[in-house]
Amino acid sequence: MIQGSAVAIPKLREWAGRHHSVEATFAVGDSARLAELCQGNGLARRLHASWSFESGLEGFPLVRVRATGALQLKCQRCLAPVQLPVEVDSRLTVVASETEIQEVASPYDTVVAGPGGLVLGTILEDEILTSLPMATVHDECTVSGEAETHSSPDASRPLAGLGALLRQE
Ligand SMILES: [Zn+2]
Repeated sequence: MIQGSAVAIPKLREWAGRHHSVEATFAVGDSARLAELCQGNGLARRLHASWSFESGLEGFPLVRVRATGALQLKCQRCLAPVQLPVEVDSRLTVVASETEIQEVASPYDTVVAGPGGLVLGTILEDEILTSLPMATVHDECTVSGEAETHSSPDASRPLAGLGALLRQE
């Protein structure tokens, strides 16, 4: 996967201190989670991502995660391909453990680094998946008034409409 190695907390602090940035251009197929979401479609499409580090209010490293590009999903109503733009721009406070979350007064979301550190590719995938609409449908397919436009943190929701379609048969 993209940027799959963990970056330890001391390294993140050092990066934050000197405003280090990491950039990557990758194919959808390089991410197993995105490839699964797209059901194997449009895997050669390129996404661009960056992770910019700075020091947060309480001294915790802060990472700004950005991603641009597009994914090819299936419209849940007509099952034809639909292109979904990816526009991620999130700031996350990085803590080493769950207990440290209580010390964070920052208004930004918090991400807990694993035992080995923070895996940049994982937080990027998380942010992309949570940024997508709950239901993927063409604009012209929303005329029935059933389309949901709320975002959901549940990554499996873009496929939720499939079950409803099957039940109608
Ligand atoms: Zn459609």
